Order: sequence, then structure tokens, then C-alpha cells
Amino acid sequence: MIFDFVFLHVANLVQQIGRAGRDGNEAKSVIFYSIKKDLRTNFGILAENHETQVFNYTPLYHNYYYLFNIFFFSYLILFILNRPFNTQNMTDQEHKRKCQLDTGLHKIHEVLLFCRNQYDCRNQIISCYYLWNGDNVPSPCLKCDNCRKRIKEKPTYENCIDDVCHLLEIIEEMNSNNFEITEDDVVEVFCKSNTKKIRESGLAELEVYKSGRKPKFGKPKEVASYILADLVIRNYIQQKTSLYYSSPNAQTLSASTFITGLVVEAKVRVMLDSWYYWIHKK
Ligand SMILES: [Zn+2]
Repeated sequence: MIFDFVFLHVANLVQQIGRAGRDGNEAKSVIFYSIKKDLRTNFGILAENHETQVFNYTPLYHNYYYLFNIFFFSYLILFILNRPFNTQNMTDQEHKRKCQLDTGLHKIHEVLLFCRNQYDCRNQIISCYYLWNGDNVPSPCLKCDNCRKRIKEKPTYENCIDDVCHLLEIIEEMNSNNFEITEDDVVEVFCKSNTKKIRESGLAELEVYKSGRKPKFGKPKEVASYILADLVIRNYIQQKTSLYYSSPNAQTLSASTFITGLVVEAKVRVMLDSWYYWIHKK
């Protein structure tokens, strides 16, 4: 069975891929996906192709890190002017729609994370959504693409708590310096990338950038971006996705996603959780 789209939620995914093995014989399901495109499409379906930006607080001071130091007061005025777009001014109906969209978006992210996962047994991941308390997680199936990849590439199961804490610190410092935070920028800072964009945007001036060390594992960008997505799903990081028309003549909606900060007590709660991931050590 071949799918060229991503499902709206994991239950949907299980139902669809289950069709392939309905006769009890072994079967294969393949999903072609694109994180950005499928997020836009599926979120568009949930939002019934209407703009969502009206609910979002859109900063006007994109990457104005240096200007922040020079024009502190104009920044302050911009900040105050932006406040009326905050969620407090929503009607009940708008608030209800926002909650529905947030829940739907969370489910889309769960499916995308499932697609992005590279080494955890697919069967085990799916079963976690259906197990009752006290049920045992099944053993790895050793047949799915991830099981076969894990056996072949031999990654190690590592406690990544330090990397998780570092990612949270990056977001915290970017937030307190009023950066518009994208996943890509957080990953670049995490990997200590020395690109023109990082230098010119002022990100290289952050303490977390200067004190950070280059990750000691293979494919650091991929791993950092996966952990970030996991942190969003596990409710440690707040993220906002907006659908909007990029110009008055635009025919289709565009989507943009920004990280808006840490969830309250994120840095305390993170210490109590488990952060093991399959990675390749350098
Ligand atoms: Zn498996």
C-alpha cells in the first residue's frame, strides 16, 4: 500500500496501513511525506482553508537583535502595540476554534514525528497509542524499516538529557532577546554552525552559542531537529503555526511555524522525564 500524504492522526494511520495486511499475510505500507507541505495541507484541512493568523501574536521585530540595543524604546512601543493581538481578546467562538486547531495540530505533529523516526520499532511506537495501563510494550518486530535500519546501522541508545537541556536554554535565551525563533535557527545554534546568516542575525552573540560545544554525534542537525519536534509533542516547547495569504492576490494559503517559548516549569519537568534516543556516536 502506498500513501502520498500524511494522515491527520495516528488512529487514522493505523486504520489505513492495517488495510494492507487484512488477509493476514505479510504486507508493506509506504508513506511518502514532506514535513512542511503535509503540515500546511493537513492544517489547511482542519482550518477549512481559512486564515488563522488573526489569533496569533505576530512580532514585528524580526531578528532586530542589534536594533534592540540601539532602539530600545521604539522596540518597547512596538511590543506594546502588538499586545492587542494576544489571546485574551478572543471571543468564545474564536477561543473554541483555536483549541480545536491546537489539538488537531498536535495530532498532525505526532504523525509527522512517527514518519521522521528512524530507529524505533514502528510496531512499538504505534502500540503505545493503544496500550492500556499495565500492558507490556511488545518486543521489537525486527521486520519494519526502522528495526532493519537499527540492526544494519547499529546506533546506540543514549541518554540525551544534556542535549535536551541545551536546546531548552537556546530557546530561552533567544526568547529573552526577542528573536523570532524558528526550528532551523535553534538547530543551527545547537550545532554551532558558523554560517553568514547566523553571524549576521546576531545569533552568534548569544551566550548559548558561545558556550555551546559541537555535538559529538553523527547527523547532528537531523537529531537536534527530531528532539525539538519531540519536545513540542511532549509539551515542553510552545510552537505556533499560522495559515495566511502572503499577499492580497495569493490563491493559496501559506503556513509558517515559530517557537514561542518554553512551557512553564519546562526546565524542571524535563529532569524527571526520560530522554533516550538512538544515535550514532562520532
Ligand atoms: Zn519493528
